[in-house]
Amino acid sequence: MKLTNSPITQHQINDRTFFLKRDDQLHSHFSGNKARKFMKLLEDSHPNTTTLISYGSAQANSFYSLAALARIRGWKFEFYVDHIPKWLIERPLGNYRGALDLGATIIEVGKTETGLHPADYITQIRQPDSHCIFLPEGGRSTLSEYGIKQLAMEVLSWTRFEPNHDFVVALPSGTGCTALYLHKYLKIHNIPVLTCPCVGGSEYLTAQFNELNETDHPQILSLDYKHHFGKLYDQDYQTWLDLEYQTDVEFDLLYDPLMWQCLEKWQEDNPAKTILYIHQGGILGNESMLPRYQRKFPDMQAQSSN
Ligand SMILES: *Cc1c(COP(=O)(O)O)cnc(C)c1O
Repeated sequence: MKLTNSPITQHQINDRTFFLKRDDQLHSHFSGNKARKFMKLLEDSHPNTTTLISYGSAQANSFYSLAALARIRGWKFEFYVDHIPKWLIERPLGNYRGALDLGATIIEVGKTETGLHPADYITQIRQPDSHCIFLPEGGRSTLSEYGIKQLAMEVLSWTRFEPNHDFVVALPSGTGCTALYLHKYLKIHNIPVLTCPCVGGSEYLTAQFNELNETDHPQILSLDYKHHFGKLYDQDYQTWLDLEYQTDVEFDLLYDPLMWQCLEKWQEDNPAKTILYIHQGGILGNESMLPRYQRKFPDMQAQSSN
């Protein structure tokens, strides 16, 4: 099975044109950034594999995406977490509900009284054998280079038909894996990659890049305040509402609003460049984020561009 060539659509934000690579539309369940990162596991044959194993947060985008991958491949899927919030067990939603619907098994390591981190629990107690594929949290691995290179090639061939634009590619970072490998394959074609740190600050992101053994990095934009992952910011919510109002596209609430705030400033200094933004999916996660925002900022509304 091969999944490629998500569409690219054209939009306006604050009266500026930008293009959007719709990786949120790669597949109904296996989409976005995590699909690109795990694409190699979809395409390779793996005749001896029966079980996929990973760990992380019960609300993570990777939980849902890996459940979709396992479902497509006919593998069992075990996902180890420290704990599942009580409210989530009582009212499953978002990535957690989606993953369970796709047949995932979730194991709460915190309840086992081993005192082990989920990753250690897997290696020491679960002990994956040769029929298992064990993936680190969020796909932070060189495995992801393969699928992200494919994304870079799709971007590159599309830009060749748009010679009148001077493109930059923009996307927010968690581990930075996606931005780093896009940069690696687009830089040689003179397409710059811009990103911003949504987890930790610029130093943390640079350290993540270095850990993947690449010395040449994408350009990091940031705001003048520190952004804590998963925290609610009125500016993030306002940006998200404005984006949806002006483009009719639902963006992700955890990562995208920060990137767009960084880009707003950047565009003022670089008016001749055209942004090609990568939509990295994550929409199911909004199911838990959006009600939190609506409760915290009940009166906030989109502001039109003029
Ligand atoms: C995982 C994820 C990211 C971050 O990707 P990295 O490769 O870890 O930088 C950004 N956006 C969405 C929607 C994601 O799911």
